[in-house]
Amino acid sequence: MLNLAIFGPPGAGKGTQSGRLVEKYGLLYISTGDILRKETASGSELGQEINRITSQGHFVSDDLIMRIIRKTIRENPHANGILFDGFPRTLSQAALLEGLMDELTTRFFGVLGLEVPREELIERLLNRGKVSGRADDKEAVIIERLKEYEEKTWPVATYFMERNRYYPVDGTGTLDQIFNRLVSQIEKHTC
Ligand code: AMP
Repeated sequence: MLNLAIFGPPGAGKGTQSGRLVEKYGLLYISTGDILRKETASGSELGQEINRITSQGHFVSDDLIMRIIRKTIRENPHANGILFDGFPRTLSQAALLEGLMDELTTRFFGVLGLEVPREELIERLLNRGKVSGRADDKEAVIIERLKEYEEKTWPVATYFMERNRYYPVDGTGTLDQIFNRLVSQIEKHTC
């Protein structure tokens, strides 16, 4: 089982690279952001509540996140491992992840951290906003999301660094170059 997380600020390219990693290693992909957007699009009461929070760039509760993750795992019992995208996003979620791995009697490989300069992130997100139609890809919300990342999510990287399970990857360059760097970090640390 290869259980890992792709990590990095909004706009770092996590979603794009995840597709390739999932295919190469036969992983179950759990993007908490995608699942939340699906719920919002359904128009359910829960979806409306989620939208009120995410459209301002804020985080939904750990409790909700853990519920959607457990549900996805229950529905996909035969994967070779799990690739988390957008989770863990806070220190409390990092602890919840460790607990979940214990419960599943498996281990967590670690976090692949895509590193991209802030100016390039803002530019990428503004460009994505032109085509994605995502309510949170607007400049004011982008700034708020980057602030949430710096304050609440970056400590997650420190948490895994202290445990020697944070693997940094240069997130600039071509998609192939970035993918090759991700794969070489995985291969280097799984052998
Ligand atoms: P993403 O697609 O990962 O950028 O997520 C989009 C939005 O969903 C984030 O800005 C948060 O509002 C919310 N979200 C996604 N994952 C989480 C999480 N693990 N914990 C809390 N909120 C989340």
